[in-house]
This record gives sequence, C-alpha cells and structure tokens, in this order.
Amino acid sequence: MNVSLKKNAFRTLVIASTNKGKVQEFKRLLSNYPLEVIGQPGGLEVEETGKSFLANARLKAIAAASHTGDIALADDSGLCVQALGGAPGVYSSRYANTDRERVTRLLNELRNYSNRSAFFLAALCVASPSGKVLLEVEGRCDGFIAHEPRGNNGFGYDPIFKAKATGLTFSEMGFDQKQKISHRALAFKSLIPGLKTILNCELE
Ligand code: IMP
Repeated sequence: MNVSLKKNAFRTLVIASTNKGKVQEFKRLLSNYPLEVIGQPGGLEVEETGKSFLANARLKAIAAASHTGDIALADDSGLCVQALGGAPGVYSSRYANTDRERVTRLLNELRNYSNRSAFFLAALCVASPSGKVLLEVEGRCDGFIAHEPRGNNGFGYDPIFKAKATGLTFSEMGFDQKQKISHRALAFKSLIPGLKTILNCELE
C-alpha cells in the first residue's frame, strides 16, 4: 500500500504510551502514512480512572496531546468475561501482578462456571493538543475462555482466549492470523478513514 498526499501534510503523531512494544506495533501499522510516529515523552503519568475502555483511551490521548502539542493516539483494551459480569474489563492489566498470575486468577474465578463466553475489546482515541477528541473507535473479538492455557505465542490472556472465528487460542495462532481478527486490529481498521481525513492524505 502506498500513500499519496493531497497536500504536503507531514505530521507528528504521539502514541500515548510508554510501552515500547505498543509504540513499535503502532509504528508498524502506521508506516505507510505521512507521519512521524513517536512515543510519549517520559514523565507523563496518566491515571486510568475511566469506567470504560473508551474513557481511558480518551484520558490518555488528551493528556499526551496537550503535553506535547502534537496530535496523540491512545489505546485501551482488555478482556471481558460474561460469567464474571464483564470482569476483569478495565482492570485487565491490574488483575494480578504478572501475566501468569492473571491467567491463573481468571481460571480459578471461572472454575465453577459452564458459561465461558468472553470478548476482548480495544478502544482507540485520537486527540488534538487543544484537548479535542478527533476520533474514537472500538474493535471487539468474541470467544471463550479455555479450561487451561494452550499455545506459545502472544502475551497477556492470549493462552486462554479461544477465538470464536478459529477455535484456537490467540497463543496458538500466528501473528498474522491474530492480526486478521483481533480487537486491536479491527479497531485500527475502523480508525483508518477518519485518520486519512485528519492527515489529509489518501491511501492508494
Ligand atoms: P492496556 O495496555 O492498559 O490496554 O492493558 C490491556 C491489558 O489487557 C493487557 O495488560 C492484557 O492483560 C490485556 N490484553 C489486551 N489485549 C490483549 C491481547 O490481545 N491479548 C492478551 N491480552 C490482552
């Protein structure tokens, strides 16, 4: 995919995260755009006090954009389990101290339930330096919580999230296969038309 510019627009987009892996992933996804993609500067701490993924993405994008004077993109995501009333939800990353402990806790909490339905949700928000929300989208991937971890790839809850579309856990799927159906990939896809408008460019 190539990019042709309608105008001579080349802008900086700050990824509102200090997580190097996340910044790299967005750099890769945005590599065809007329953008300099950078991580947010150190020293900016944003408390994720929102009650929804979108609310948290908004808080992070607005804080990074006002702090840097550039447009900023933030994401927030997590796993929602039906039998647990949507938990861990916005607390997905704070459910326990490590990925392994988070997985163990979730399997324990679910051990007496036959309903294993769950979904991953990702929210993305782009904000301007004046604090205006320019774009916000969500992506969702439905599936089930497996009875035990399976597969070697990925991170977080990947070993126990069995995607409805494939019947495999995210950890059993290759990167490219996960990219076709994941909540983050779907959210990113929805972001593209609005992003093109903001950037004043076209994808050929
Ligand atoms: P965030 O970085 O604040 O958005 O936290 C998201 C948390 O949700 C991560 O720490 C993971 O525990 C979980 N999570 C989100 N997306 C995924 C995924 O694709 N696979 C596995 N876990 C995920």
